Amino acid sequence: MKHTSIIELSLSALKNNINFIRRRIGKEAKICSVVKANAYGHGISTYIPMLEKAGVKYFAVASSFEADEVYEAASPDARIMIMGILYDRDLEEIIGKGMEFYVFHYDKLVKAVEIAKKLGKPAKVHLEVETGCNRTGLSQEDLDNCIKLMKKNPEWVEFVGLCTHFAGIESLSNHFRTTRQYVRYKEFLSYLKKKKMEPELRHIACSAAAIAFPDTALDMVRVGVAQFGFWPSPDVYNLYISEQGNRRERPLKRVITWKTDIMDIKHVQEHEFIGYGTSYQAQRDMRVAVLPLGYSNGYSRSLSNKGYVLIHGRKAPIVGLINMNLFTVDITHIPEAQLGDEVVLIGKQKNNTISVSSFTNFSNQLNNELISRLPAAIPRVAKV
Ligand SMILES: *Cc1c(COP(=O)(O)O)cnc(C)c1O
Repeated sequence: MKHTSIIELSLSALKNNINFIRRRIGKEAKICSVVKANAYGHGISTYIPMLEKAGVKYFAVASSFEADEVYEAASPDARIMIMGILYDRDLEEIIGKGMEFYVFHYDKLVKAVEIAKKLGKPAKVHLEVETGCNRTGLSQEDLDNCIKLMKKNPEWVEFVGLCTHFAGIESLSNHFRTTRQYVRYKEFLSYLKKKKMEPELRHIACSAAAIAFPDTALDMVRVGVAQFGFWPSPDVYNLYISEQGNRRERPLKRVITWKTDIMDIKHVQEHEFIGYGTSYQAQRDMRVAVLPLGYSNGYSRSLSNKGYVLIHGRKAPIVGLINMNLFTVDITHIPEAQLGDEVVLIGKQKNNTISVSSFTNFSNQLNNELISRLPAAIPRVAKV
């Protein structure tokens, strides 16, 4: 059956964004694409093959569940890294499939070694150290225990990475905090060097760090939001623009376009109300288009009576409340609009564009929040 909306993903935009990140960090560091939350809503099964076409074969996710989705979509030689929750019951399958995972708890490493011995296959681990984010991360004591265990079991543990995560490096106001994290991370590195334990990959940078502070790229960057064409924050954008002087290029391009079509058209007389309740009253005779999606499809209710969509390249303002599966827009000024015509919710149509940020400004959501919540049921298609 046809779904009520569709998401198109642009391969050329993705290639452009990956190339931009590549230019920022230089040739040496690897790019690991963070595809948690269904690839920030872009859709893992469609998006992973596109990433591979763009030359990326290292993927990071937040859970073992997501790792398995990526495993299904990726080619056999791809590398997959779990940065968050990995339940004990899944350890055997994860190690068996050769996937990599963060260790932020000594007990997890103990279990991993047991299973590795049983399988006759090493566990591929990234040690996450606590540098000041204070979410997950090994304390010095836990790290020492991990090192001891790894030295005892060199054939059962591959020391793939030493990593940490910045606590908000996208805001310059957090700079003192993130700088201290970087210092602590380097202390861990030299400590391990003294212990003759060196990882294959040192990695700490997210999108904002990779773009704004390329010296944090080390051996690998974990790029999330920027690969999809979004700036991590106004600070990072402004920093980049000021560095570039007057050159007016647009180095990041939005990958996603979200579309639907007109389901019904209504003539509404002056003084009539539209939709539920009394939130919108027609101030004149109006022509209104009904669209077949609503907040259950990821279109925020907070856009009620705010924001707009594009029809025939023109802005059609939202009138009335966003319902669970429907909402209405004013098309009085677009007489050529007909049943079944294309409606752009996010993206470009003729000379007009609806950016995700114009959308989220109205709804007070983060860019990440809006896109990552786009329902998995909406079909995704790859475009050139
Ligand atoms: C989400 C995440 C990233 C990517 O962050 P972006 O700001 O989207 O680039 C990197 N590292 C970790 C540990 C993450 O959880």
